Amino acid sequence: MIVSVIVSIKEIVAKGRDFPWPRPEVCPRCHGHRVWGHGFVAAFFDGFADEALLRRYRCPDCRCVLRLRPSGFFKRFQASIKTIRDCIVYRLANSRWPKAISHTRQGHWLRSLYRKTLAYFGQGWKDRLLEGFDYLVRMDEIPVSRRI
Ligand SMILES: [Zn+2]
Repeated sequence: MIVSVIVSIKEIVAKGRDFPWPRPEVCPRCHGHRVWGHGFVAAFFDGFADEALLRRYRCPDCRCVLRLRPSGFFKRFQASIKTIRDCIVYRLANSRWPKAISHTRQGHWLRSLYRKTLAYFGQGWKDRLLEGFDYLVRMDEIPVSRRI
């Protein structure tokens, strides 16, 4: 289970294992009161050459593993939600990509958004991709992932 927390990626990268991650007081799945440390997983984020170690916890009651993740990022995406959305806004308005991020990656985002928006909301939404993006985020979906 992914738990989004408001933390600074810069600090996570700088402090490594010493970063003071918040510990959930209860397990979000079974509400058990024992939440134990369960190591770290490495992840990369745009703008940082070094890996970030993300904290994991484990609930011994229901065996659920909690992975803490900086809020503002989709699972398995290095660019922030805001950056991805800004790129799509720019592309839709200008018919070309902003230069900061590889065009291949941005192309994947747009194609996935197109497919996913139409899959969820129907053909009539092909000119409403930005709206689709925001709706999907509110539905806890990743609008730019290939999986539907
Ligand atoms: Zn539990």
